[in-house]
Amino acid sequence: MGLPKLDTPIYETALISTGKKIKFRPFLVKEQKLFLMASQSEEAKEVVNTIKQVLSNCILDDIDINSLPTFDLEHLFVQLRAKSVGEVVNLRYSCNNDVEDKDGVIKVCGGTVKIDLNLLEIKPTIDPTHSSKIELSAKMGIVMKYPNFDIVEKLNIQTQAELLNLVTACIDYIYDEEQMYYAKDVSADELNEFIEEMQQSDLEKIQKFFETMPRLQTKHDFKCVKCGYQENITIEGIQNFFG
Ligand SMILES: [Zn+2]
Repeated sequence: MGLPKLDTPIYETALISTGKKIKFRPFLVKEQKLFLMASQSEEAKEVVNTIKQVLSNCILDDIDINSLPTFDLEHLFVQLRAKSVGEVVNLRYSCNNDVEDKDGVIKVCGGTVKIDLNLLEIKPTIDPTHSSKIELSAKMGIVMKYPNFDIVEKLNIQTQAELLNLVTACIDYIYDEEQMYYAKDVSADELNEFIEEMQQSDLEKIQKFFETMPRLQTKHDFKCVKCGYQENITIEGIQNFFG
C-alpha cells in the first residue's frame, strides 16, 4: 500500500527582465539537504550551483535557469526562500570600523552586528534611463542581453580587456537598416573586431547599460554595540542575503 502524497502549495512571481509569470513550489526537506551540504563549502560557485539546482527543482514553468540574468535568478531565489523557510533571515556582520585601543593602537573593531533582514524588502532597482538598445549611429546599433551567472563566473571584471569580453558575451545582436546580426551566428573574432572598431564614447554607452541594469539590493541600518559605529549599509549579492 502506497503512502498518501503530500500536497504542496504553488506560488507565483514574475521575472524582473521580462515580466513573465513564474510558478513555483516551496523547497522541501530534500532541497534543504542540498543547502546544508553547500553551506559547508566555502566556494561561492558551489552555493550558486546549489541555488540553480533547487530553482530548477522548484520552478514549475519550463525556463532555462542558466540563461536567466543574475538579478532574475537572485529575485526568484529570494521569493522561493521567503515562501519556503520564512521572510526574515538573521544575518551577522563583523564590524570593520577602525578603533583605537587603550594603548593607542588602531585596529579593526570586529564586533558582531546582527541584522534581521526581511527578504520581501529586497527590491530591484529600476533606473528609468536604462536601455538595452545602444545606438551607435542613426542607422545602426547594438541590442544587449543581461549577463547570467555563467558569464559572471567566467569573468573577473577588473581590466579593460575583461570588460571587452563581458561586452562580447552580452551582445544579443547588432542591427543596421537592413537586418539583425545575431551574436550567436557570428564568429568571436568578428565580434571582437567589431567592438575594437568602436569609439570610446560607444563603449561608455555600453558601460552605462551594465551600470544601470536592475540590481537586487536593500538598505539597512548597521549599528555596532561594541564601538557605536553606525552606517546605512547596502546589502546585495545572493550570498549576502542568507546568513
Ligand atoms: Zn564596531
